[in-house]
Amino acid sequence: MNWLKKLLFIGVSGIMLGTMLNSNTYASFFVDEVEKVYDEKLQKERENLANLNRFKKIEKILTKAFDEKDENIIRFIKFIFDEQNSLTINQGEIVEKFEDIFDFSIDETSAIVKIIKNIVELSMYEDVIGDEKYKGLAVFKDHILQDSNLKIITKFMTRNDCFSQGKTIDIKGIMVHSTASPGKMADFWYLPWNRSYENGEMSREVCVHAFLDNIGVYQYLPWNHRGWHAGGPANNTHIGFEICEPEGIIYSDDYSQIISIDVEKTKEYFEKAYNNAVKLCVMLCKQFNLTEKDIICHCEGYELGIASNHGDVMHWWKFYGKNMEMFREDVKKSLQNRFV
Ligand SMILES: [Zn+2]
Repeated sequence: MNWLKKLLFIGVSGIMLGTMLNSNTYASFFVDEVEKVYDEKLQKERENLANLNRFKKIEKILTKAFDEKDENIIRFIKFIFDEQNSLTINQGEIVEKFEDIFDFSIDETSAIVKIIKNIVELSMYEDVIGDEKYKGLAVFKDHILQDSNLKIITKFMTRNDCFSQGKTIDIKGIMVHSTASPGKMADFWYLPWNRSYENGEMSREVCVHAFLDNIGVYQYLPWNHRGWHAGGPANNTHIGFEICEPEGIIYSDDYSQIISIDVEKTKEYFEKAYNNAVKLCVMLCKQFNLTEKDIICHCEGYELGIASNHGDVMHWWKFYGKNMEMFREDVKKSLQNRFV
């Protein structure tokens, strides 16, 4: 397998993907990336007619495959975009198909997949934060990040319908949730939730702005983007984030209540996660001109008639002697400290 085949594949895939996504950004991204790596060789080889023919041949195969909706090609492209498919689709089959067409080895195919994925993810992220409708509010402003020691990783769930619908909201408050999924930490949720409900990839419409745990925060949606977390009108007004629950909690079969919890074992985790939630709310309050009074949890949202009937977060916090009044007080203190 020589470099030229790889180059051609990446280039053609870029153009194909760019067309698929109705944007030239993707195609130009690929071309830039390819040129960076192969610049010198590219110039020489471009003059070589035989290689241009090879390029055209691959382009033809891919175009034909798309025109005819060749399932293997479509699955391969889906696989590139969607890590979840690596769990359900036989990668070997796809690689074999590509070996037939392009003579790629398994290692080469996975290297190409990685490059394409990285480029696409990066360009999608940049498209979002640079998008006019997000008005620079998709992520935290630099001075707010600098004022906090909270660790934040941004990785948008671009496959989730909630993301692709791209509705923005006028932020009026923050809704605090907890997952009711003991032991599943903030980084876990990207894979199961970066899916499309419309395409039957997940069983419910759900997406929150962020998950946090004892380590830090994963931001999965632009902050001023409408999420699906409240099961009610609060989706139109509130940023929603989930606090991950630690191992050592057992729920009743219908998840309506906690039937067993190891408070001693989970106390340290809780305190760290709670403090991270305070820090995140402080940052959100600063960026969106909110106060502690604008923060509610899911069960308070239900009481106010703007969210579905869920018990989080009080159903869990009560075991550690915490409630939302205390939480708001802690956020208020942190907000005031800044101005001392
Ligand atoms: Zn909730």
